[in-house]
Amino acid sequence: MNLYEYMGKDIFRKNGLPVPEGYVVEKQSDLKEYRKPVVVKSQILLGGRGKSGGIKFAKSGEELKSAVNELIGSKVRGLAVTKVLVEEMLNIQHEYYVSITLSREHRAPILIASSSGGVEIESVPQKEIFTRVIDPLIGYSDYIGREASKFMNLKPEIASQFRSILRSLYKTFTEEDCELVEINPLVETKEGKLIAADAKVIIDNDALYRHKEFSITDPEKTPLELEAQAKGYSFIELDGKIGVIANGAGLTMATLDALTLHNGKPRNFLDLGGTDNVEIVANAFDLVLKADPKAILINIFGGVTKADTVAKGIVEAKKRFNISKPIVVRLSGFNEDEGRKILSENKIETYPTMMEAVERVVKVAGGA
Ligand code: GDP
Ligand code: MN
Repeated sequence: MNLYEYMGKDIFRKNGLPVPEGYVVEKQSDLKEYRKPVVVKSQILLGGRGKSGGIKFAKSGEELKSAVNELIGSKVRGLAVTKVLVEEMLNIQHEYYVSITLSREHRAPILIASSSGGVEIESVPQKEIFTRVIDPLIGYSDYIGREASKFMNLKPEIASQFRSILRSLYKTFTEEDCELVEINPLVETKEGKLIAADAKVIIDNDALYRHKEFSITDPEKTPLELEAQAKGYSFIELDGKIGVIANGAGLTMATLDALTLHNGKPRNFLDLGGTDNVEIVANAFDLVLKADPKAILINIFGGVTKADTVAKGIVEAKKRFNISKPIVVRLSGFNEDEGRKILSENKIETYPTMMEAVERVVKVAGGA
């Protein structure tokens, strides 16, 4: 999971890395009194904000207010900005790059550092980039920092700060279960201090259960999508009128394609996954019904998800939510005969192939 800059900086601060003073603003009333020049930074999960107008500088209270006004609610690199980070402005002498990530090739953490920071590392010539695999059993040692400092031509006062940053960065990387910690730029100020002006932190998804503190609400998601996410469904709202429940991301995508091919527009994407649970099927209906479709298409290929279990879930949902909208089911695969029997006993239409079901649902939904 990719973290917002302000969350990355909170982690940095907690682990003793130097970061600028600052605070998060969601609305004008969160603004504190203006005291000194500040940078106002859009919080989005993409870099390149500087070049795309997502970062503004303010040298008065008025400028601060208008920067916040302009950024919040706008889009930067196509992403909605709901929060900005207001930080003391740094007097930049030089910009460096430093990161630690996992090298799949070496199956170990790798340190990457350069004196040419502030730009994407991909655009820096190879000969200006220091890389060093870190043996995870030994961890970071200062000789690695000395090698890096020498490579980067750092002055002694900067080099000693740099080594202490590397030590804390490595600690952060391992203790917070990161896939990446990146500081770009790592700023040398005119006052001779090294400070992390940006923070990019990616937490290993498999370790997220240890990091309940990092919850992220994707501002691009609709309320119904957020509800679905909290309930554990892969669900995306679309703009058509046919509700869709299918199993497996591939089959669900194919279902959307087949609907489109027959001039039917899907209202949503919902992948039941490999589930064998009547309740999960019934609750999927709850989500789809909230999207208010004209008709609902269920496309199940039984496997781990048994066809008869899905049939029971459909019958249960029809009763529980008192569904009067047309439901068209394509059911095949494991236990399909039992499944179809349960459905026909409950007067729910089933078809053995996807195309038949798709043609039917487009018709009952009122055509194209
Ligand atoms: P990114 O473009 O999304 O990676 O955002 P960064 O946080 O890296 O900021 C982009 C650029 O804005 C930096 O490389 C700096 O040149 C500039 N910048 C960011 N913070 C400051 C600051 O406090 N003072 C000054 N003078 N420039 C800043
Ligand atoms: Mn950056």
